[in-house]
Amino acid sequence: MLTIENLDVDIETIPILRQVSLTLESGKMNGLIGRNGAGKTTLMRSIMGLLKAKAGTITFDHAVLTKLPGHRRAHLGIGYMPEDRRLVPELTAEENILIPVWSTDIVDHLDRLAWIYRIIPECEEFRHRPATSLSGGQQKLVALGRALMVGERLLLLDEPTEGIAPILARRMGEILTNLKTEGVSVFIAESNDIHVVDLLDKSFLIERGAVTLHTDAREDAR
Ligand code: ATP
Repeated sequence: MLTIENLDVDIETIPILRQVSLTLESGKMNGLIGRNGAGKTTLMRSIMGLLKAKAGTITFDHAVLTKLPGHRRAHLGIGYMPEDRRLVPELTAEENILIPVWSTDIVDHLDRLAWIYRIIPECEEFRHRPATSLSGGQQKLVALGRALMVGERLLLLDEPTEGIAPILARRMGEILTNLKTEGVSVFIAESNDIHVVDLLDKSFLIERGAVTLHTDAREDAR
């Protein structure tokens, strides 16, 4: 699974991540909990290769991600849902979910689309609507669907419940719970763990760019 060792990442010469080391549990829900500005997005973007490591390694199974160019990572089965969703407004929900198919050769994309609609039936209901007509929470569901299109092995979810109505945050929690039976490994960043604490098998705390193992997420949330 994913292992990070002694990772340092700078943004414009400012050190943001410092000596980050962690190992995700395969097929499980892993949490990354830290306040705003702690470095959660920076860590997710580094795993995706959108930010360059200054030092350290990120390994996914036997592939050293920190040495692989972006286009060679696409086939590894890692999906990313950014915090700000980044949907293409003029495309429909379904077209947004299919965006990874344009750049990656996903031969079974229609099967995957059917699987996504089984996991998130709401997306099938509004599949023909333009992204702009959807609420913030519905757009998050579409962004999750798009991440699932490519993320058959590992999903990186940056604050999936942030900024959405409580009812949709609960629904997102339910969908993520159901994902547990699908065998996908998940890494969820949240600024607090109220919506995801019951889901997490393992969690890490991030503070000012440094990560420590959070031994018992449930105990701490009480
Ligand atoms: P949030 O939920 O607020 O995004 P976060 O934990 O995801 O919080 P990051 O976005 O990773 O935090 O930011 C970590 C640190 O890096 C913050 O101090 C932030 O100000 C800084 N940072 C992020 N992007 C830039 C940038 N483009 N230029 C300079 N500093 C940046």
